Amino acid sequence: MTNIVYLNGDLLAKEDAKVSVLDRGFLFADGIYEVIPVYNDKPFRLEQHLARLQYCLEQVDIDNPHSNIEWKNIINTLIKRNGGGHLSIYLQITRGVSETRNHDKPSDINPTVFLMASELIVDETNISTASAALLEDIRWQFCDIKSISLLGNMLLKNQAKAKGHSEAILHRNGQVTEGSTSNVFIVKHREVFTPPQNNLILGGITRDVIIELAEAAGLKVHQQKITVDELLAADEVWITSSSREISPVTNIDENIINNGNIGPVAKVLHQEFQDFKKSLIL
Ligand code: PMP
Repeated sequence: MTNIVYLNGDLLAKEDAKVSVLDRGFLFADGIYEVIPVYNDKPFRLEQHLARLQYCLEQVDIDNPHSNIEWKNIINTLIKRNGGGHLSIYLQITRGVSETRNHDKPSDINPTVFLMASELIVDETNISTASAALLEDIRWQFCDIKSISLLGNMLLKNQAKAKGHSEAILHRNGQVTEGSTSNVFIVKHREVFTPPQNNLILGGITRDVIIELAEAAGLKVHQQKITVDELLAADEVWITSSSREISPVTNIDENIINNGNIGPVAKVLHQEFQDFKKSLIL
């Protein structure tokens, strides 16, 4: 039961939550969002999600409508009202409702704040794998902003799906960027590589956790450029995101990775991730 949503200060049933057709989110995709996993009623890495939210709002010049304490209260109330447990919280802020449709940014406008919860399916023992299509990254140059304008990501993901894959791994001129909804890691000779955090990728919260856990486990982690050739020749490839945690990629198009098996480093880090959640009493 995850039917209660938050809209501009009110808690409502999903079907009763209404937004104006003049909302700039609807007309221009003028807004940003966050997705926060919740384990056993507790938001995971909330400080980091709120810091990324602040960064993204600054990038698009929208004032943060709430302090971190207010966000925590809103999120915790929403968790309670939706029955708690394992959830995924979707949080969206748009610039708000303008009087007319005009590209110019209105000066006095209140952001629209919307949050909803959905069930988060977590399997702590089995590792779910992914299959990927390699596609050219056709998105804009500000992929570090978690913009609600996801047309590029959506088209790429659907191209991958049409080819029978669950994710698109993207590259720009032969350099790997990220997945359409995830970050990408490879392993070569038991060392871990992931593309550097810059404007071409979203700085994933899960990416940071995996880097921390890998380093704590004594693995060398390199945040550096990865070519498509290196990707296809890797011993292991994984994607990471809040909903998937860590998911080994068994094949990229017709290229089979690690004979289609889950690699040893992915297995260790999947376990480390579960232990880390437990250590936080999640
Ligand atoms: N890159 C993109 C394009 C994404 O959509 C996501 C998932 N939101 C990620 C990376 C992973 O980010 P996170 O670990 O914070 O979920």
